[in-house]
Amino acid sequence: MARSYIHEARRRVGPKRERIRPAIERLALEHPDAVIALRFRDPLELLVSVMLSAQTTDVTVNRVTERLFRKYRRPEDYLAVPLEELEADLRPTGTFRQKARNVRAAMAMLLEDFDGEVPTRLEELVRLPGVGRKTANVVASERGATQGIVVDTHVRRLSQRLRFTRQEDPVKIEADLKRLVPRADWARFPHLLIWHGRRVCIARRPRCGDCVLADLCPSARVDPGPPVGSAVPSPIRT
Ligand code: SF4
Repeated sequence: MARSYIHEARRRVGPKRERIRPAIERLALEHPDAVIALRFRDPLELLVSVMLSAQTTDVTVNRVTERLFRKYRRPEDYLAVPLEELEADLRPTGTFRQKARNVRAAMAMLLEDFDGEVPTRLEELVRLPGVGRKTANVVASERGATQGIVVDTHVRRLSQRLRFTRQEDPVKIEADLKRLVPRADWARFPHLLIWHGRRVCIARRPRCGDCVLADLCPSARVDPGPPVGSAVPSPIRT
């Protein structure tokens, strides 16, 4: 039953290569305000903000960095205070000891290897302690040097529900998306999915009845119209 339903759902919505452009266009109309929610004024603040955003909310990071960035303006400033002082300044963001160690080590490497400047190449960014591929992609994209597609929890969930990927591993998901999404949309695509994931395609209870992608989505819990005409069980697993 489930297999035949999934097959029918895929047949109804068509191949992903035909769905990707209308999906992006609709999401762009639906979420014209879909941009990064972190507040920063320069590449260093961007890097630190994204490093602090792991396992917390953007609202919390913005609240912490409002004061943090008045105190720490250059890489040297993060190294000029005792580790315990930086830990206390980062405490509200959670896992603050690890974050403080990573930020200090990243600042030291910026000074040592990059003349104090935040690099834009992914392979250089991921050398910085505490900077994984997702963080590197965010930093590069926000600086206009997009080289990949950011895959966070929302991008992963929506890409899977929309059957843009079958992968679980973020690196493999990104590879699938890079083959599918037009190059010009690599920077805005994750923002569109992130905002749609927060507002509509919510993890536990997707609001398919309010979703502009319902007729393009094999996981839709609503009947978007012909050729599906009868109630069917949901294939969504969250
Ligand atoms: S139709 Fe439902 S599952 Fe598909 S993207 Fe929209 S909210 Fe998510």
